[in-house]
This record gives sequence, structure tokens and C-alpha cells, in this order.
Amino acid sequence: MENTFVLFNNQITERENVSIDMEDRGYNFGDGIYEVVYIYGGKPFSMDEHFRRFEESARKLEMKMPCPIEELKEKTAELIQANNIHNGIVYIQMTRGASARAHLYEKEAACLITGFARKMDPPAEAQEKGVKTYLTPDIRWLRCDIKSLNLLGNTMAKRIAADHACGEALQHRDGICTEGSSSNLFIVKNNEVHTHPANNLILNGITRQHILQIAGEQGITVKEAPFSTEELQAADEVFISSTTMEIAPVISVEGDVQATYPIGSVTRALQKKLKDKIKQNRVHQ
Ligand code: PMP
Repeated sequence: MENTFVLFNNQITERENVSIDMEDRGYNFGDGIYEVVYIYGGKPFSMDEHFRRFEESARKLEMKMPCPIEELKEKTAELIQANNIHNGIVYIQMTRGASARAHLYEKEAACLITGFARKMDPPAEAQEKGVKTYLTPDIRWLRCDIKSLNLLGNTMAKRIAADHACGEALQHRDGICTEGSSSNLFIVKNNEVHTHPANNLILNGITRQHILQIAGEQGITVKEAPFSTEELQAADEVFISSTTMEIAPVISVEGDVQATYPIGSVTRALQKKLKDKIKQNRVHQ
């Protein structure tokens, strides 16, 4: 098997050397957090932003980092090198470690870090031709701002979308659109971009933050304000964003509302500027 080096606490080791306790709280309760960073041409993109969010998630869950974040970043870079990744992802996870199963967590618990890196090319077809989506109620908890391992609402939504031959699920809470199952959601109306505010109901995507910045630089108005499923239906353009997808146009929505969309000029402009920013990162780092 290729790419067998993994991170286990502060060690880079072969995957077969790692075993996890069956009473790890990540396994019993989903008590943990993670990050995914994209690697372009051997270099991670927005590593600092991802690890800042990792620390933020840890803080919100009162998890104690077992090492300084800079050390974790160094280990992550080593992991990428050990697996000789040109294009791909690195996944870093931290759980609250093993203890006799009980709901109450200890704030001082020794957390367990694991990570892997995997080759993966950017999804050129989704970026070029767009994706079909399926709109479904957002059944998740009320702390979607934490990048936690509890992803059942997200995985169920993704399954429903796939059952309808759609590549991504869009979610709404009582008629207000929140985000995708693993992406942020944007609509364009009269050349203005709308996206849900970064509160407890969505994950504040790193890609989302890049898009807000790029839109500002391009003089494109962005409204971080809730929008309804009717507004989604009536949008001129729709797109989704994530670390692994960058920006993908949405060409249709089914489920709780139905519409088809052209791939418009605002989406294409933002897509191109994000690619430029990624390329610059490759040159400068
Ligand atoms: N929302 C959810 C629910 C996600 O899982 C993701 C992907 N991690 C995103 C948004 C996009 O975040 P990012 O741009 O940081 O990958």
C-alpha cells in the first residue's frame, strides 16, 4: 500500500505500528476535532489558517493541546514529506484520548493526535462542469462552528444527495439555507454574493474566508446575511466552496426546492482568482 506513513502523537511511523484504544473518546463519543489541508505541488495551502481554526476548535471543546501548535505544524510538514505528496490532502485529528467510558470529560485529559496524508488531484470536472445538489433539512447540532468529529448529520445529508444522483447536499434550517454537507454555500443575485453569516450554524470555511477577501479585492459586494430557500431557488448563480473542492459551480438543486442554474461570470471570476491565489502560494512559500 502506498503512503503508509502516519502521524501518531509526535511520531511519524508506519501505519501498521498504530493501534487505538477501543475506549478512545473519539471512538466512543466522537469527542474530537480535525482539519484537512490541501497540498498543491508539495506545499500546504493556508496551513496557518487551518491550524488556527484547529486551536480554536480545541479551545471551544476545552481540549488541552498536547504540544505547541508550531510543533504540530512541523510534524504535519514532515508527514507530507514522508509520504511524498505532490497534490493531495493532509488530515490531522485530535481526540480526548482513552479513558473508562463516562460522559463527563476531564479538562486535563491527555489528547491523542493522529494524521495521514493522501494523494488527490483537485476535482477538475466538478470545478469545470459544476455539481448537482440536493436540498434537505439541516438536522445537525447547534455548534457547527466547531470542526468536530461528530459528522452524522453531514454524512446522512451526503447520503441522501447521492441517493438522488447529486454530488452535494445543501442544508436549510426552517427555510434558511446554512451550508453544504462538506462545503459552504453562496448564491449570486444581481451580481451580489450572499452567504450565511459565520455563526454557530455553519463552519467558517477557510476557503469561504478567502472568497470574502477576493470578492472585496474585486469590488464584488458580499452580504454575510441569512437567505431563504426561495432566494436559493431564485438565484442567478450558486456555488459551493471547500478546501478539497476550491469553488465548484452548482448547476441544479433538487429536493426541498428545485431549480437549474447557469455557470455565471461571478462564479467564474472568483474561481479564477482563488486559483491565482493558490498558485502564488506555491511560488512564495
Ligand atoms: N462546511 C462544512 C460542514 C465542511 O465540512 C467544510 C469542509 N471542511 C466546509 C464548510 C468548508 O471548509 P473549508 O473551506 O475550511 O474546507
